Amino acid sequence: MFKKLVAKLLDKENPQPAGSDGFFLDVRCTECNAQFHLFIHKSWELSQNFEKDGSVTYFLKKTIFGVGCPNRIHVEMTFDSNKNLISQHIENGEFIED
Ligand SMILES: [Zn+2]
Repeated sequence: MFKKLVAKLLDKENPQPAGSDGFFLDVRCTECNAQFHLFIHKSWELSQNFEKDGSVTYFLKKTIFGVGCPNRIHVEMTFDSNKNLISQHIENGEFIED
C-alpha cells in the first residue's frame, strides 16, 4: 500500500536521479549537545499543503530525540512546489550548518 503510493507520486513528477531525492538534516540538542544526522526523503516524508491559489507547497514536521535525554527537538520546514527549502524553524535544538 505504502510502496504503491510512493511509486505513484514519483510517477507523476519528473524522476530525479537516485540519491538526490532528499537531504541531510543535522541538528544539535541544546540540552545534552547530542548531534543528529538524519536523511530526509523528500518523496514521502514531506506533506502536501494546498494553497488557496491552487499551488502546492510542502512541509515537514519532525520530532527528534536521543536515548536518555528528555529533550524533544521540534523541526519544521517549508518547501516550495519544487521541494526547495523556503524556511526552517527549530525548537529545543539548533541546526548545524557546515
Ligand atoms: Zn538531548
